[in-house]
Amino acid sequence: MARRRSRAAACDTLPPLRGRVPAEQAGEGSDASEECGASPSPDPFGATLSRTGEREGLTRLTPSAPPLNSLRMTALEHHHLWRPYTQMKTAAPPLEAIATRGSRITLKGGRELIDGIASWWTAVHGYNHPHIAAAMADQLMRMPHVMFGGLTHAPAERLGARLAALLPGDLNHVFFTDSGSVAVEVALKMAVQLWLNRGETGRTRVLAFRGGYHGDTMGAMSACDPEEGMHRRFGAYLPAQVFCALPRSAEDEAALDAALARHRHELAAVIVEPLVQGAGGMLTHPLEVLATVARLARRHGLPLIADEIFTGFGRTGTLFACEQAGIVPDILCLSKALTGGTMALAATVATTEIFSAFWSDEASAALMHGPTFMANPLACAAANASLDLFEAEPRLAQAQAIAARLQEGLAPLSRLPGVREVRVLGAIGAVQFAGTPDLADLKRRFVERGVWVRPFGDIVYLTPALTIDAGDLDRLIAAVTAVTEAVA
Ligand code: PLP
Repeated sequence: MARRRSRAAACDTLPPLRGRVPAEQAGEGSDASEECGASPSPDPFGATLSRTGEREGLTRLTPSAPPLNSLRMTALEHHHLWRPYTQMKTAAPPLEAIATRGSRITLKGGRELIDGIASWWTAVHGYNHPHIAAAMADQLMRMPHVMFGGLTHAPAERLGARLAALLPGDLNHVFFTDSGSVAVEVALKMAVQLWLNRGETGRTRVLAFRGGYHGDTMGAMSACDPEEGMHRRFGAYLPAQVFCALPRSAEDEAALDAALARHRHELAAVIVEPLVQGAGGMLTHPLEVLATVARLARRHGLPLIADEIFTGFGRTGTLFACEQAGIVPDILCLSKALTGGTMALAATVATTEIFSAFWSDEASAALMHGPTFMANPLACAAANASLDLFEAEPRLAQAQAIAARLQEGLAPLSRLPGVREVRVLGAIGAVQFAGTPDLADLKRRFVERGVWVRPFGDIVYLTPALTIDAGDLDRLIAAVTAVTEAVA
């Protein structure tokens, strides 16, 4: 549990941009007052961020920012809002964010945090990228929304064509929705209706993998790990799916093959998170495992659904994780980084073979889905601008550079007795503890160090913006190192 004074001393040489946390308020003993917040923002888009906040709308950094606890909303202020995955009675009230820029989140009062998780893995280009902002502003004035039934518009048409061109194989048919869970829901429904359209009834289940997470709506929940997952209490409410371990060994492969054979008559599809099970604990698997899943699904005549909601758009070092294993799934789900972290948008993309099962003179063979905000023009404009940035800027090289730095910086932690494993894949770095840490304590320690890192279960992880600069990435790694050394 020893804290390292040398690091604190190094922090003392930084400009006094943010207020320090008085020990009594931080509840951390005297150490708390030794920790520093983030250093002044290098402006990621070229201009210099003024420390006195001269530029309109930018962070106002004051020499004496208020202490952390005064930035939390009071119970009364936030009692109308029910927060995600949160025990409202016991959780610390949330911090109030007032601005974002690059890899920084500014809290009320001026204190800045370096964002280690890019707002749940969405903000791949950093926050407030001017190219995306300009595209959205233009679209906002033109047409923020129009219904997609019977009408179409250029932002959606263009985005659909660009996604089809970027995705592997003939994943050419794009169905837009508004969240990752709904994209999965549509993929499951597509798979089930595919068989109905082919005249086969009774194929209403999917084979999913232990450790998986696919979202919070009913079908998506039913495909999440039924025992370890966050939805385990809902077993009786959910459709019963077939679960297997990912085929990491010959034994697991044989078990998967047998399960597919046994349940083949009732299965509509196989669903997998390619290369990494994110919310299940950043559980990575080699690309051969993914290739085996694809091969066995094909052998048993089942469509493969690749849930790339987390992995899509560079997170694993390639634009899509499936590319690394050289596979083309039959259905692929995208969301999160699709709009560069600006707007809610998702896509379920199908191959021509899947699409053709819905191509019919029968009205009832049409895909029976259509969210009100489907293909929202503002979100599509943001997504097109995000794709422009993937074309114009070296995002994949940046992801690979982050991977190398995460590997180098986090690997030494695996020697600590309280650490079970360190895993790095692309711009994802995770430290798994041997036991279950006190998450509230960890979160508080990270904020005190000026970083926004959200541990869950037994892991602490980093999934920063792909544009994060080297200094901020090093500060994130240093914070994870210091906190892990303190508690593991
Ligand atoms: N699928 C995967 C792999 C995810 O990681 C998530 C969210 O974390 C989802 C689906 C659900 O997406 P959303 O939260 O947008 O509904």
